[in-house]
Amino acid sequence: MPIFGKPKFASISTSKPQKADEPRPSKDWFKCKGCGTMLDRKVISAQLNICPKCNYHLPMTAYERINMLMDNNSFKEIDKGLASKNILGFEGYDDTLKAKKKSTDLNDAVVCGFGTIDKQSYGIAVMDFRFMGASMGSVVGEKITRLIEKATEKNVPALLVTASGGARMQEGSLSLMQMAKSSAALARHSEKGLPMFCLLTHPTYGGVTASYASLGDVILAEPKAMIGFAGARVIEATIKAELPDDFQTSEFLEKHGLVDRIIDRKDLRQELSLLLSFFKNSQKEEKSTASKA
Ligand SMILES: [Zn+2]
Repeated sequence: MPIFGKPKFASISTSKPQKADEPRPSKDWFKCKGCGTMLDRKVISAQLNICPKCNYHLPMTAYERINMLMDNNSFKEIDKGLASKNILGFEGYDDTLKAKKKSTDLNDAVVCGFGTIDKQSYGIAVMDFRFMGASMGSVVGEKITRLIEKATEKNVPALLVTASGGARMQEGSLSLMQMAKSSAALARHSEKGLPMFCLLTHPTYGGVTASYASLGDVILAEPKAMIGFAGARVIEATIKAELPDDFQTSEFLEKHGLVDRIIDRKDLRQELSLLLSFFKNSQKEEKSTASKA
């Protein structure tokens, strides 16, 4: 369930007045959340969903991200068929699941699989915010855990691309258990000396931030993404203090050491390839040092 409040960050404003000759929002046209410019959906999707005027990083679907981060035709999806059930009999959950499956063409809020980038193998899990705010229910947790377990078995690194409102309220404590389960799988992956990278995208909140999104060996974030546990308004009301304007943005978190690097989407592929080769080489070095000793 999304638990973040209204973003405080000034760049996420839509207050620019509509000009008379500008196209109206429609199926093909929409307003940039960063600068208010009207953008053509087709043109923007060919430009990695980045606003050419203000560099605002617009949302991407899971498959769009996978296409961006994998060599052509290298991606093999796993556990595509796993779908959530209304185990607790939560009112309206069945209908919501049905509607979201139809509108997104996904069975749940994460897509997982294996492939290569510049011929280097790795596992990837990408959360898709369109499916119930990418809330983490038992299927999301299970798919991420299986991806990590398979990556451990295959001896390959993993990348988790997060976007989430937090744990899925409709699955109660079953959702919360996913935090421990996925973290335990990551600990075993790490014990084998395998690296895990996180890419935090807008917005990443709640139980996802409190588990795997914070466990990467390298934590990357997209510019101006909102990242936190509870929303700023909740924190402000609890501690009765005013928070800085850029609170919970990637930039704020980078400044305070919770994010290692902020990466523009157009540089991400190169960055990831570099990280994969860097960690592969350091593993090789460790092995050769160990065998010499
Ligand atoms: Zn813009």
